[in-house]
Amino acid sequence: MTQTTSESASTLPRGTLILVGTPIGNLGDLSRRVIEVLAQVDLIAAEDTRRTRQLLSYLGLHQPLTSYHEHNQASKGLELIEKLRSGQSIALVSDAGMPCISDPGGRLVAECVAADLPVLVIPGPSAAVTALAGSGLETERYAFEGFLPADRKARKARLQELQKELRTMVLYEAPHRLKKTLQELIALGFGDRLVALGRELTKKHEEFLRGTVQGLADYYDTNEPRGEFVIVLEGMTALARRLPEHPTVTGRSGSEGTPSDAAAAIDLLKQLLGQGMSVKEAAREAATQTGGKKNELYALAIQIQEIELGESQ
Ligand code: SAM
Repeated sequence: MTQTTSESASTLPRGTLILVGTPIGNLGDLSRRVIEVLAQVDLIAAEDTRRTRQLLSYLGLHQPLTSYHEHNQASKGLELIEKLRSGQSIALVSDAGMPCISDPGGRLVAECVAADLPVLVIPGPSAAVTALAGSGLETERYAFEGFLPADRKARKARLQELQKELRTMVLYEAPHRLKKTLQELIALGFGDRLVALGRELTKKHEEFLRGTVQGLADYYDTNEPRGEFVIVLEGMTALARRLPEHPTVTGRSGSEGTPSDAAAAIDLLKQLLGQGMSVKEAAREAATQTGGKKNELYALAIQIQEIELGESQ
């Protein structure tokens, strides 16, 4: 087993990849530890070297920089692994926030793990968690979805998958796509879901816009979205509790279905899975008992099982 060590910044571990979180707007969020580490590493691999150079110059640092981004990660990864093997300590930073979170880094970490090289994380802000914390929506369970796929078909398929998501969802979205995304959500029956938009978080004009998906779509009919956004969207469990008569995807066959159908289906599936039934058997039995659609109950049962397996680990 590879163990990742946590050592003080003054004794940076050699041959270690160090993931460093940087501010998502407010430079006051730079921690002392982040600064100490950036000052001591042999090399900083940056998503955008120009941007990171600005940060370093703000800190009065002159560490060597190299680029590591979406388009060079295969070849650059090999190079960095070699440098790590030779004992260099390398920091990886993205443009803003945590590396690997909708940003480059995940592949390099996996390569280090495969090469038995240590990985250290110096945490910093992440827009997803910042928005979730301030959303006012349920935070006990959430699903980070990052950016929706750009391809139209894949995007629709992903949103259809999310109709059945039990947990609060956190999505990143570009300002020029926000209106369209809200309309797509409405078309798929998310209009009454509660949503919080975290805009320009930690920056001068930061704000949370809260309401229903429909309400915020109406607002943006006459206002242009500007700045960076995180979408935090109510999941089906909270919806079922809040609006017992709202139609959802897990209805009885022939009818549209309500969240109370959904909540009842969730309870029943949990019970059947708890009795040791397979996902397939539980979905079949739930369909017989409720008259709901087997494929939808199957998808729901898979999610319940995944969540419960995650919790037991
Ligand atoms: N790795 C970053 C993190 O940990 O938050 C996320 C990088 S991702 C490429 C950029 C997206 O994050 C933006 O399109 C936006 O959705 C979100 N984001 C980043 N900074 C933000 C901010 N200050 N306020 C709101 N959203 C932000």
